[in-house]
Amino acid sequence: MKISRIDLWYVRIPLPDVFLPAWIPGYRQKENRFTLVRLVTQDGIEGYSAVQTMGAELEGLGGLLGSYLLGERADDIPSIRQRIREMGYLGWRVGWLEPACWDIIGKAADKPVYELLGGMPGAVKLYASTGSVRNTDYRVDEVAARVEEGFDAVKLRVHAETLREDVEHIMTTRREVGDDVVLAVDANQGWRVAVIADAPRWDLERATAFCRAAGDAALAWVEEPLAMDGYDDLATLRRASPVPISGGELNNQGLSEFGVMLEKGCFDIYQPDAVFTGGIAATWRIIQRIEEAGSQYSPHTWTNGIGFAINLQLFGAYAKREEKRLEYPLDPPGWVPDARDGLLEEPWLHSNGRLELPTAPGLGFTVDQKALHRFGKRLFTATQPRVAWRTVRDRGLAEARRLGRTRSNRIAARNEAFEAELAGGTTAVEIALSSW
Ligand SMILES: [Mg+2]
Repeated sequence: MKISRIDLWYVRIPLPDVFLPAWIPGYRQKENRFTLVRLVTQDGIEGYSAVQTMGAELEGLGGLLGSYLLGERADDIPSIRQRIREMGYLGWRVGWLEPACWDIIGKAADKPVYELLGGMPGAVKLYASTGSVRNTDYRVDEVAARVEEGFDAVKLRVHAETLREDVEHIMTTRREVGDDVVLAVDANQGWRVAVIADAPRWDLERATAFCRAAGDAALAWVEEPLAMDGYDDLATLRRASPVPISGGELNNQGLSEFGVMLEKGCFDIYQPDAVFTGGIAATWRIIQRIEEAGSQYSPHTWTNGIGFAINLQLFGAYAKREEKRLEYPLDPPGWVPDARDGLLEEPWLHSNGRLELPTAPGLGFTVDQKALHRFGKRLFTATQPRVAWRTVRDRGLAEARRLGRTRSNRIAARNEAFEAELAGGTTAVEIALSSW
């Protein structure tokens, strides 16, 4: 189970048409871009994960990965999480690496991750998640197209210049599409990015007025109506709003931050995305806390096909998945399954607004190596000899030997303790979920 090789790629998959993400107003997205990691164990099991990036800004991450992760057991999630936390001290948010270890644990056990977490095979219900702010005519046609494809729930993006335009948009859309379609709205105010075009910033007053109108339009929820760290305003808004408030999708991290949000009552629906909230073990614990608090869980999934897969696995294990819908990112003609999931041998294709949980082990997808060759640029490869050589070059032979020996001793001691727990009948999954 020891990690013996790490590869990083910067992947750029062209979109068939320009996509206008609501979360970066003015940006015309032409590619699905992300950083891909592959961990390979000594016995040859591969685990993948990915995080969305603007460019090759994670190129320098390779310098950290080898020193921190090589030689660690891929199934020793507490140790992996500790290494990930340590890498974060130096300014990198790298919780997205952890799901690659679950891919390995699942493949070693020949089970999908949701089964390791207690879930059963079956189908999940989806909602179509649009990605762009649109005018009302376009929106009405768009919702009709999704309904035609079998969806009964669609999430819109709304943040025009004025409140009046936003209210008109939802009222008209509701009137035109009828009462049978579940409609929700994402205001994308949680982590507003105004690097290209400016975008309206909602305050408590505007958010409250919008939520009242959302009640009149019978919306199922309003997502991210305020900044992600405006906890007190979010809690005030939630108390005043006739419709459920959701959030906590992307830049809110870890059990501690979600604990604060739950305590303050910021949201009715929490949307932790395991790519960003610290990985699968952390998110599973967050889901349990959401349940204990009597709140709802509905993950953010909008990154790429691999990010979707990671959250699909968690959602597949969620005890209440039958009653809920999972976010299915879809905004043709730009954001479509072939480009969204462009690195996977089989894209996540819905059928009538439903998706069968994958039965393949691990995270449930196979990376298409030809597509990776075509769209990916390898940034870094870490193996023990390469890292050792680099350390000798940077620090001299004597210091490299000392570092290597100390580190090997630390890993050997931890592995001995971990293997004793396994021998005692505790599984790697139980160790992963009980350690935080
Ligand atoms: Mg959102």
